Amino acid sequence: MSIQQFNKILIANRGEIACRVIRTARKMGIRTVAVYSDADQDSLHVAMADEAVHIGAAPSRESYLVFERVIEAAKKTGAEAIHPGYGFLSENAAFCNACKENDIVFIGPPVGAIEAMGSKSAAKNIMADAHVPLVPGYHGDDQSRDILKKASDDMGYPVLLKAAAGGGGKGMRQVWQESEFDEALEAAKREAMNGFGDDHMLVEKYLTQPRHVEIQVFCDQHGDAVYLFERDCSVQRRHQKVIEEAPAPGMSQELRAAMGEAAIRSAQAINYVGAGTVEFLLDVDGSFYFMEMNTRLQVEHPVTEMISGQDLVEWQLRVAAGEPLPLRQDQLQINGHAFEARIYAEDPENDFLPVTGNLSFLQPPESSDNVRVDTGVRQGDDVSVYYDPMIAKLIVWDENRDKALQRLTKALSEYRISGMTTNIDFLYNLANSAPFRDAQLDTGFIEKHHSVIFHDSQQDVEKDLPLAALYLVLKQAEQSQQRATQSIDHTSPWHAANAWRLNEAHVHNFELRFHEQQYPISVVQKNVGTATRYQISLGDKSFSADGRIEGNTLFANVDGYQLKASVAEHEDNGVRNYSLYTQDSALTFGLVEPDFGDLEADSGVGGLTAPMNGTMVALLVEAGATVKKDDALVIMEAMKMEHTIRAPADGSVSEFYFQAGELVDGGAELLAFTEAE
Ligand code: ADP
Repeated sequence: MSIQQFNKILIANRGEIACRVIRTARKMGIRTVAVYSDADQDSLHVAMADEAVHIGAAPSRESYLVFERVIEAAKKTGAEAIHPGYGFLSENAAFCNACKENDIVFIGPPVGAIEAMGSKSAAKNIMADAHVPLVPGYHGDDQSRDILKKASDDMGYPVLLKAAAGGGGKGMRQVWQESEFDEALEAAKREAMNGFGDDHMLVEKYLTQPRHVEIQVFCDQHGDAVYLFERDCSVQRRHQKVIEEAPAPGMSQELRAAMGEAAIRSAQAINYVGAGTVEFLLDVDGSFYFMEMNTRLQVEHPVTEMISGQDLVEWQLRVAAGEPLPLRQDQLQINGHAFEARIYAEDPENDFLPVTGNLSFLQPPESSDNVRVDTGVRQGDDVSVYYDPMIAKLIVWDENRDKALQRLTKALSEYRISGMTTNIDFLYNLANSAPFRDAQLDTGFIEKHHSVIFHDSQQDVEKDLPLAALYLVLKQAEQSQQRATQSIDHTSPWHAANAWRLNEAHVHNFELRFHEQQYPISVVQKNVGTATRYQISLGDKSFSADGRIEGNTLFANVDGYQLKASVAEHEDNGVRNYSLYTQDSALTFGLVEPDFGDLEADSGVGGLTAPMNGTMVALLVEAGATVKKDDALVIMEAMKMEHTIRAPADGSVSEFYFQAGELVDGGAELLAFTEAE
């Protein structure tokens, strides 16, 4: 039988997964059609596709979820198949049927398989028949309160009430004792009704320390099936995955084979075709229980690709076109270890609430064989209220878990995003924590290790504040040095940026903010011979420090302790932020009080530049005028305060770069100063 590959496919999705599918299609010589909403007109997935069709307004129920429009777009462009990605229409039986009716191949399982897994309780009945282990519980049709209650009482508390139609953790309630049952049942039903229009409940034994371990399966149209090993997705917040890894730490060959075979039995019980994931809870004693089967490609599929060396989207396209599975079970092998961290626009400090904004600066770590970034956004794009706030997936690989983890933290510390709060520091701190390094994984990981992960103890803050302060003054010194080298005028004071302050004590006062708290800091600069040291005072504590900056790395010596930190500068909502990534934590400080180089006590490193956005109020001397050291030159206003900028030495102002009334960007040079001979 000769197999005809598709010529053109439509991707019924957006963001990173649409881009991901387009990449593989292109590699295979398949043409691609994107669909887009009003909000996505200029988005990356549209730019990457060969063709794109507008399908409606920004809210997904008016565009990406309107399957008639998607089908219409496929027909209009002559796409032979539709890849649904994940989310949106990917597990929608009606959409799958509509594809069939229009002679379009749905790149996914047959409709019967989607229907069979659509209800958690129906799925359980099928799995029980296929001898797949289930969490002890009740999944019957009789939904009376008394039956559900009796099932719970008989099983013993804690139990978990789950909406049969549920997903994304909605309609789920833990019940720790009999007396809480009625209230929990009501709440779960209400949430399920609101979320899914269906309040059918099932009851499960609540496992207190399970791991979430899922198996990637693949089935072709010829009855063959393989499993591509497991992923551990235990690290979750609000029952949603944040860091996934493959293989699962501590997995024995026997357990892997047992879970893999159970997953294949699950898939075959519903005549599955294509990529699917069977999710299990793995209990501390090594027993595992079927939770659900996701009948689509998962967000976290890249970790499986990294350890298996296979392109799962390519497998999907081949299988959907009727080809046999590319490899047999005995040809598949695990190679090394991979992690995926989901980079979200969200505020971990505020219960992981999603945030929106414009990605004014976006610089992911450099991609390589070890580091992969799957994203659907570019610098300048918005993270809007309409869609999932995931910015990217950062995937790393190395030959073992320790090395891969080192890659992960390094790549996280190199991720630069300005314009909104992200979970990068949180991910860094989590990945760096001792319990994560030791793979003490279970689904309660984040709650259990909250204080270790969040690093917000006063002790941690005070440990990192002097570093942030040191970084700021070194950066200012570096900037004035740069101006000196750039300056053509060799008599310019910038040329002697350090020299003309020799033997003077310079004081820099500023405030750094961490969370809601402000920390006034004072740094006294002392030049001893050619060396410069800084005395950093913070409250009643004082540190003696020196160091240097190379690229993004700060090499610091604080009271004789030498350490390295990687620093990311970014601006979020008009505040200049500095994220410090040290060996054991990531902390972000905001700069509150700018140092305007007021020369009362301070000759101000870089005092003739505007440290933040403001307005030029007045020029106090004429261009060309000769001035004495400390003469007032200009007045600037910023943050509702006036700041006088004074001459750093005797000399003259040859030119002013701004006139009174003009807006001045932070960092801009204000005037050209020539020091007297
Ligand atoms: P949803 O479809 O809403 O995501 P799942 O059934 O997949 O719900 O469960 C989501 C998460 O809830 C799991 O990954 C696990 O962390 C937790 N969970 C589910 N069932 C149990 C259980 N019986 N005991 C303990 N935790 C559970």
